Amino acid sequence: MRTPQPFVTLVGAGPGDPELLTLKAVKALQQASVVLVDDLVHPDVLAHVSPHARIVHVGKRGGCQSTPQAFIEKLMVQEALAGENVVRLKGGDPLIFGRGGEERAHLLAQGIEVRMVNGITAGVAAVQDLGAALTHRAHAHGVVMVTGHATDKGLLPPVDWAGLAHAAHASHLTLVIYMGVQNVATIQQGLLMGLPPHTPVALVENASHAQSRQAHGTLHQLQNLLTQSQISSPAIIIVGDVLRAMAAVQTAPETKQA
Ligand code: SAH
Repeated sequence: MRTPQPFVTLVGAGPGDPELLTLKAVKALQQASVVLVDDLVHPDVLAHVSPHARIVHVGKRGGCQSTPQAFIEKLMVQEALAGENVVRLKGGDPLIFGRGGEERAHLLAQGIEVRMVNGITAGVAAVQDLGAALTHRAHAHGVVMVTGHATDKGLLPPVDWAGLAHAAHASHLTLVIYMGVQNVATIQQGLLMGLPPHTPVALVENASHAQSRQAHGTLHQLQNLLTQSQISSPAIIIVGDVLRAMAAVQTAPETKQA
């Protein structure tokens, strides 16, 4: 009998709210025999995993490399070759700042089939929490998702925040900044070189979670906003005029969900 082709499924768990899982994600979790879980995954998502499956937590919270990437990749390969149905469960979407691309390349190089399941990325959930629209046509032509964290190992030069601000201003782009909390001073300073100080900004911590928190202000206030609100990781920073269109929601709190 032919040995079945080993495979791993990279699954996006969404931003937090377990009801934002896709049907494909639920199916993959039900069928998995080994689940490798990142730490931004909401614990309730694991309710879909079979009681017979093995769950391994492999998070790297706050830049502390508790489980090095190389070890995670090795473990996925090992389990898949042993005939396990391996699910690699990641917060948000596996391919948005989730190293899904690197993991897919590694698995394919080892002859392992890779199946992908998209998830709702945190930036999109954050804007929904704010009652805004990422591409409200009166305010934006598009969106830039950008990391606020310097790239590891010098793979790329750092983000040119001033250049990005000029582009965002000229072309009416909303900025959705991931992993920006620790680097907020540099981000603010760079963005102020190309965007007006009164540009609206918002911070959203734990988007889509019941305990989600937000802070609103202007680009000029960004760093103070973070200090005063004590918002911390995981958080998204949104910058752009689309935030002007949330006024209607703010003045009508009864329309907000509890
Ligand atoms: N693949 C993930 C992103 C991983 S990078 C996705 O698609 O959402 C980790 C960063 O994502 C965090 O530093 C934070 O900026 C953001 N993030 C993840 N979950 C979040 C949440 N629920 N609320 C706010 N930001 C979140």
